[in-house]
Amino acid sequence: MSGPVSEADAPEGPTGSDEPPDGPQVELLEARTAEVGGLEVRRALPKRAHRTVGAWCFADLFGPAEVADGMQIGPHPHIGLQTVTWLVEGEVVHHDSLGSEQPIRPGQLNLMSAGHGIAHAEESPRRGVERVHGAQLWVAQPEATRHGEAAFEHHAELPQVDLGDGAATVLVGELAGARSPARTDTPLVGAELQVHADTAPLGLEPTFEHAVVVLDGAVAVDGAEVGPGTLAYLGLGRSEVEVRAVPGSTTVARALLLGGEPFEAELAMWWNFVARTRAEVDQARADWRDGSERFGPVTSALARIPAPD
Ligand code: MN
Repeated sequence: MSGPVSEADAPEGPTGSDEPPDGPQVELLEARTAEVGGLEVRRALPKRAHRTVGAWCFADLFGPAEVADGMQIGPHPHIGLQTVTWLVEGEVVHHDSLGSEQPIRPGQLNLMSAGHGIAHAEESPRRGVERVHGAQLWVAQPEATRHGEAAFEHHAELPQVDLGDGAATVLVGELAGARSPARTDTPLVGAELQVHADTAPLGLEPTFEHAVVVLDGAVAVDGAEVGPGTLAYLGLGRSEVEVRAVPGSTTVARALLLGGEPFEAELAMWWNFVARTRAEVDQARADWRDGSERFGPVTSALARIPAPD
């Protein structure tokens, strides 16, 4: 999806400490509401206080909602990041400039690595009222791969972890001994947690920093109630966390666990670009405007999205 990052999300220059604190903590950071392709989203990351969690640098949560004409996000470019698309409800078809055409349904993973440059479009398979609910996440690519070839992966089957009255699906990386087949360029974990009121604590990698974002329902993180879209930042050096449905709630609650080794560099993020300098962003913007081969053509009936001014 297009995730236009603006100055409101990632202002230039230092805006406070981004040093991951040691030890257990739960810091609650409210989401900012934004609009992407006619859909209201809750932007949980980046935050001024925490621009990244491991290499995770962007998290938009959308729905549950009914969209009048479905989701229609026309061709747009990316550099320097992986897009991780995860659905709770609905269906989206991905088209990219590598020639990939891939529908994604709940429980499946679309992982696109932009490297030096790629373009893609995402749209509902039908027009008319479509129900959508899910997340679009970005992972910053390290120096070793960010200038390299673009790639696309679809994973229809992902490993599950039994949490004892709850379960985790591992999207990327490893959790409780279960490893996702998806590509990772840095030490990273991403998992969907389905939890009840007495779900067992979850073991974490202490060299990672972690955060939890709520997709659905009422979730308590180490006893602190966390609302939908809020980012619960857990810091570094933790070996476990208790993620449960709020006591008294009858349904399963759903959240994403994001974590990784603190990222190697400061990012320059603007619109759909993740870079290191303003000059790199300006070059990518000019290349998209000029129709450079860097991004390639996307097969889509939708209009190409121009970069904002
Ligand atoms: Mn996109």
